[in-house]
Amino acid sequence: MRPRYSTARQTPSGGPNVQYLRSRVRAPSTRPEVHLSHRSNWLRAAVLGANDGILSTASLVLGVAASGASGTAIVTAGIAGLVAGALSMAAGEYVSVSSQRDAEEADLRLERRELSADPAGELRELAGIYERRGLSPELASEVAQSLSHRGALEAHARDELGLDEERLARPLQAAWTSALSFSLGAALPLLAVGLTPASARIPTTVVVTLLALGLLGDLGARLGGAPRRAAATRVVCWGALAMAITAGIGAVVGAVTPV
Ligand SMILES: [Zn+2]
Repeated sequence: MRPRYSTARQTPSGGPNVQYLRSRVRAPSTRPEVHLSHRSNWLRAAVLGANDGILSTASLVLGVAASGASGTAIVTAGIAGLVAGALSMAAGEYVSVSSQRDAEEADLRLERRELSADPAGELRELAGIYERRGLSPELASEVAQSLSHRGALEAHARDELGLDEERLARPLQAAWTSALSFSLGAALPLLAVGLTPASARIPTTVVVTLLALGLLGDLGARLGGAPRRAAATRVVCWGALAMAITAGIGAVVGAVTPV
């Protein structure tokens, strides 16, 4: 489901935003439009994973750096954070996507049983679905028969359960996608903090992190069809806040803890 923002369509005073509306009504192009939503499931998961990796690792290394720790301690904490985060993302995704997969498979098993127990009733059920979508009873029954002939289970899975073979939940794919994207994201602040001399460590890491968050926020918004500037601004603000909080806590802990 794409988030919609009515503000983009309206001027601050609440009237219609003519410029925005015009930008949405382009001349028809001869190219078929690209629907990102088909592949954006795992792409969006990858963007979120990278986002998590960048922000949690940046906050972690900044917190440690602000405490006055040595470069070795900072990089060690960052690497531990990267590995721990990637594994925990993978485990979490695997568990949650597996239970989704189990539910989908249970639905398909039930449907298969119903189809063999009462094929005529299932055909009527399918026709009823098409009728509710606006087809005439004759056409609905014709479509249901024709699709059932090609593959009754497939038709029921798609039109009754909303399950599409290409979009079935894939636990392992979800697990490694999140682990990999988290690690790639986490590598950015880790490199920034590890390769910069001590005096410039904190500002460089903050700048690299905010830039990366902004770019990813923009990409995520493009995948979801949401307004890009708003999304990038949001993620940059939250990122800045998270880093400020952890760096502040790190500085306090560094000041009160005897090393
Ligand atoms: Zn059915």
